[in-house]
Formats: sequence, structure tokens, C-alpha cells
Amino acid sequence: MSGTAPECIVAVDLGGTLTKIGYVSEDGSATSVRRLETDRSGGQEGLADWLADRIAEAVAAAPGPCRGFGIVVPGIIDPATGTVLSAPNVGWTKMPIRDRLHDRTGLSGTVGHDVRAGGLAEWRLGCPDARNVLFLPIGTGIAAALIVDGRLLVADGYAGEVGHTRVRAAGETLCACGQLGCLESVASAAGVARSYAAARGTTVGPNPDARAVAEAARAGDAYALASFALATEALTESLLLCTTLLGPEVIIIGGGLSGAADLFVPEIGRRIAATATFQRVPELRLATLGADAGLIGAGLIAWEGLDHE
Ligand SMILES: [Zn+2]
Repeated sequence: MSGTAPECIVAVDLGGTLTKIGYVSEDGSATSVRRLETDRSGGQEGLADWLADRIAEAVAAAPGPCRGFGIVVPGIIDPATGTVLSAPNVGWTKMPIRDRLHDRTGLSGTVGHDVRAGGLAEWRLGCPDARNVLFLPIGTGIAAALIVDGRLLVADGYAGEVGHTRVRAAGETLCACGQLGCLESVASAAGVARSYAAARGTTVGPNPDARAVAEAARAGDAYALASFALATEALTESLLLCTTLLGPEVIIIGGGLSGAADLFVPEIGRRIAATATFQRVPELRLATLGADAGLIGAGLIAWEGLDHE
């Protein structure tokens, strides 16, 4: 092995069904990213052991010296103690995963939140000069990462739930969170599929497919166009609120529904610009890192942790 091989972090984006693992160098480039089926057969403890084994394997196969690990998890995370307080998607409650992984691998590392990590990566690699950024991944639900004055807003894990802000366009639709009229009930990929199905009087299957609705909309289907119009209205209302409160310079739209960006993003930009009076009008952009954003963010958080050691 060459003595000049770059140092790396073993980065992991742990998901309920799929886990990504790869190497992230200090400049944020990711290599050898693999997608594995998450093994949840061993329960809470078994999953921690499985993860430690995958990290140990990756360290053994690394192209250069490994400085540590960085993992991100969907749920409520306490980054200070490296504990996952609650992550129903992976079945963890009060799991001190950073210490467990340290005990098993001998490496130090960091634990972060998947969406905030993705936002960090999109910011650092996509618009590093901006100090106020809103990253909005629109998938099955809608989450957000908020960068304010050059800092990622965490608020003990509670910040960024833009999908559960109430909007008039959502009416009295019941959200999975228990509230009525949340943004994501009409503007997530699932929400768009649902409102299309409701308008057509059909039911959606277990995997509502917003892509099919987008194709129908581009072909001129009135119901599909109406579903995207509703999502556009709801997103405009919520993003105007965010713009008024947080003053983002850039709003980055990501997630699965960004594949249909032509059907809603330019219109939202026009409406915000037309409605804003004193507010700073944000630039709307599309995410550039795709599905690897969380993994890259996991690596960047670990690198920043090393800087502070
Ligand atoms: Zn909600």
C-alpha cells in the first residue's frame, strides 16, 4: 500500500431496510459505497453487533488509514453522547451506539441524524459560501435541515420538522403525526400520490408512486396536474413562512419528489418572489448529492469531530 493513500472515515447511513457504507475523505468525496440489507433479525443488540462487524470489515479493507467512523440514523439522536434516543425505523431505543461501536472496533466516531447530515453535505459541497440554507428532502415524508448563521440548527433533535407545519392547502387531512393539515400530507411524494388517488376515486397501494403521477401530469392529466398544484400551493405557504422566520439565502430541494421538480419547483420560486415584500428572496436549487448525501454528511460530521478532539 502506498504511504500517500488518503486518510478516510468509515461512513454509514443506517436505514430501516437499506444501509449504505463507504469511505469519506476530508474533502467530502465518497468511495466504495455499498448498499446492504439492514439485518434486523437480531433485535436491538443484534443490529448493533451487525453494524460493528460491517465497520470492522470496512476498516480492514480500507484503501488508506481509517481515522474513525461516522454513522447517521433516522430518529432522535443525542450527538453529544452518541446515543440514539429513539429510532423506530431501526428498532433502537436509548442505544449508546457510539460507545458500543468504539468498544467493538477500537475506533472513535460520531453519531448524527440522517437528514441533518444530508443537509450539511449539500451545504458544504454545494453552496459553502452561503450561511443560511434550508435543505428540504421531499420523499415519503418531508423533513428539513436548517443552517442558520453558518450553524446547523439542532435544538436537541427537535428542529426542522417543516413537514409538520400546518398549511391551508392541506385542509383537515389527518397526518401520521396526529395533527390535521400538515404540509407533508399533501406535498410529500406519498401525499401527491394520495391526493391523485382520492381525486380519481381509486385507492393507492402500499407503495404510492408519485413518479407515475408526475408522468401523468406531464401528459396533461388534469387530476395529476391538480395534485401537483395542491403540493405547490402547500409548499409555497410553508416555505414563505420559513423564509420569513429564517431568511435562507438558498433553499435546496431534494428527495424522491425532486425528480419531478419541473412540475413544482420553478412555480414555487416565482410565487415566493411575487409574494415577498421585505423578505430576502431565496434561491431555489435542486440537491446534487442524491442518495449519498446522508453518508457523505456522516463522514463530514466525523471529520469535524476529529478537528475538535
Ligand atoms: Zn404531521
